[in-house]
Parts: sequence; structure tokens; C-alpha cells
Amino acid sequence: MGAAILGNMKFTVGWLYPDLMNIYGDRGNILTLVKRAEWHGLEARVVELGRGEAQPMEDVDVFFFGGGQDREQALIYDDLRQFKRESLQASLAQGAQMLAVCGGYQLLGHYYQTADGQRYDGIGVIDVITEAGRKRFIGDVVVQAEIDGLTPSTLVGFENHSGRTFLGPEAQPLGKVLRGKGNNGSDHREGCIQGNVIGTYMHGSLLPKNPHLADHLIARALRRRGDDALSHLDDSTELAAHGWILQRAQRR
Ligand code: GLN
Repeated sequence: MGAAILGNMKFTVGWLYPDLMNIYGDRGNILTLVKRAEWHGLEARVVELGRGEAQPMEDVDVFFFGGGQDREQALIYDDLRQFKRESLQASLAQGAQMLAVCGGYQLLGHYYQTADGQRYDGIGVIDVITEAGRKRFIGDVVVQAEIDGLTPSTLVGFENHSGRTFLGPEAQPLGKVLRGKGNNGSDHREGCIQGNVIGTYMHGSLLPKNPHLADHLIARALRRRGDDALSHLDDSTELAAHGWILQRAQRR
């Protein structure tokens, strides 16, 4: 259908806890979603979903939930359960998409337990649990993604986490780890895909160097409006950055 047909169609990005869950360049994911939506001819806007009373989420097409240190997760996990869970579940059931990174990814699961045993209950929209270890996993990540039709099929990013995440039967991995630690440093899997939710440990930020994943999220969100064909954009700069990380990871 492309830009001409999508002209002036509203596109809403819902940003969860922008003031507290936003580290290692996570904000770049918001900029990428907004810019690409505009380049595809959509009228993009961002709604900030901070702490406090539930805000209307029906119009949100793509949610973004960034990372945060244990301290920030402690400040928001109760609010997430009390004020956000129900409307998030309703929006996801109606076809909205979610991209959650690291600390956000962990709190969409059943719980996150810190290295000193503090447990922060999650909202269980994905079938994963996370328990922190003493050693942090830090460095480049390269993933062979398990998303049909994603081209290129690799995703690149940067990880910095103490959490070890384990997937339950309802959750599929986002992909296989080619470089880095991923979910837990032992099963060579990274991230999670379940329904309309994608969780990952990849900061960096993720989407500027993986424009194909940004378009995957935008197209899936538009599907409920009966069209998911996006115009082709010139991603040579973005994919050059992607390729550079791939090479660097191979050299190391
Ligand atoms: N606090 C969590 C952990 O250490 C998440 C960190 C993050 O979001 N980068 O695993």
C-alpha cells in the first residue's frame, strides 16, 4: 500500500516509564519508531505512560518498555501491576505490539529476583522468570532471529544485565545467540516472543541498527487495520551500522 495510501493515518507509540526505565540509549527506539512511521507516511505521536492512574491505551499501536537498574524496577513494578496490567493485556489482545528491553522485559514475566533475593512480581504477559546472578553480562550481542521473513535475519545490540531469564512453555526465544550471553548465558537463546510481545536484552539502542525489526513491529501493529504493507525505505546507513557490529563481534 505504501506511504501514499497510509497518508495521515495516526500511529501511536506508548512509552512506559520514560523517566525511570530508559538506559543505554533506549530512547533511540522511540525515535526510530516515530521517524520510520513518518517515513512510511503515518502521522506518529508518542504517549508517555508514567507512574500513576491508568491512562487510556486503546489507541496505542506499539508499546515500548525500556531497561532500568534494580532500583528503578523497584520503583515501578507495583505501579505496573496495579495501574497498567489490565489495559496492557487488553491492548495486546487487540493487536497492539510490545517491544520490551532488559528490565522491562523481565517485569513483563512472572517475576524478577535481584542478586540479594529481593523479588519484584511481574505482570505475567510472557511466560518467563528472571533471577539475577552475581556476575553481570556485559558486551556486544548478535542474534540469529527466529522471526519468519525478517531480512536480514540477524539482530545486533549491547547487553548489560545481572538477570538470568528462563522461558516457560508458552514463550519462544527471539533467536539463537551467535555472540554474547543472551537470556542466561547457558541455553544460547536470546529474548522472547509470545503473542504480540517481543522481549530482549539488547540495548544500544536496538532499533536504529535493526530497522527491519522496527518495520516488523509497525507492520504487525497496522495489520489490525487491514493493511501491513509498508513502503520500502533506503536503510543503507542503518544496515551499514548493523554490518559493522557484526564484523566487530566476529573480530572479538
Ligand atoms: N536490573 C536488571 C538486571 O540487572 C535489568 C538491567 C537493565 O535493564 N539493563 O538484570
